[in-house]
Amino acid sequence: MKPNTDFDIASMKASGLMKQKEPELFSVRVRVLGGRVKAEHLAALARIAQSWGSGHVHLTTRQGLEIPDVRFGDIPTLREALAEAGMEFSTGGPRIRTITACQGRSCLHGLIDPQALARKIDERLSGRPDLPHKFKIGIAGCPNACTKPRENDLGIMGIAHKVFRDDLCVRCGRCVDDCRTPGALEISSEHLVCHEDRCEQCGDCVAACPFGAWELGGATYAVFVGGKMGKRPRLADRLPWAVSGEESILRTVECTIDWYAKTAERGERFGAALDRLGVAPLVAHLSSLR
Ligand code: SF4
Ligand code: SF4
Ligand code: SF4
Repeated sequence: MKPNTDFDIASMKASGLMKQKEPELFSVRVRVLGGRVKAEHLAALARIAQSWGSGHVHLTTRQGLEIPDVRFGDIPTLREALAEAGMEFSTGGPRIRTITACQGRSCLHGLIDPQALARKIDERLSGRPDLPHKFKIGIAGCPNACTKPRENDLGIMGIAHKVFRDDLCVRCGRCVDDCRTPGALEISSEHLVCHEDRCEQCGDCVAACPFGAWELGGATYAVFVGGKMGKRPRLADRLPWAVSGEESILRTVECTIDWYAKTAERGERFGAALDRLGVAPLVAHLSSLR
């Protein structure tokens, strides 16, 4: 029988169905928020891949899962099986893509909870109307930046808002030894000095002090705008201020996307709009939130 090749590849891609080179075969994208998958979902995915794919599940570069080698005619049944197991297709096209996030909260270096933030952003923004182009969000729990926030249209990174108590410091030097950023911390003239222009806000010094001379403030975020990879990579610009508190970061994300939706041309990525207009108009727009 002649294979069915009567499909609109672009609209299927926007629904999470990636056409393969082989006639009539698709790779089916499954929505995975922040790279976290329940064990029972993995078991169901294995059964589904064996039933309607070739018995493989592919891990994507953005923490997603794809079931390759699915026949066009099997897609409706596979969709039902996924829904019964509590999963759904991922989406593509000109909208906010599934958010990537590191473990953060359970990581020794984590300064924020990227998983919880990813869920909150997703709840607030998943129903948004279409944007000028795709929009990727990546969240990292600390300046190690494992989820590469600078390579996303909007990147969020936990940073340490640290407060020094000179009266508790005995100048033992442990935090200086543990700081991996050359020249950020030094003991000079009997005082501990932090050179903020060199400090990378990782918080390792806070964890190193056995005397409680460093304290961590509340959740604080660095925000990056306009990053992308692909044929013409662009590293994101960092907003010139840190954002404090969960509600403020949620508003910053919303307002950034509002600005992009209103300002960019159709088909224009966020970074390209910033290159065309400069970052200053966006910074001015977001300044009202401070
Ligand atoms: S970015 Fe930081 S918190 Fe997140 S996994 Fe990497 S080291 Fe851990
Ligand atoms: S926050 Fe990190 S980079 Fe900054 S002084 Fe402390 S250990 Fe060094
Ligand atoms: S580890 Fe604590 S007590 Fe020791 S130098 Fe650093 S801040 Fe001071």
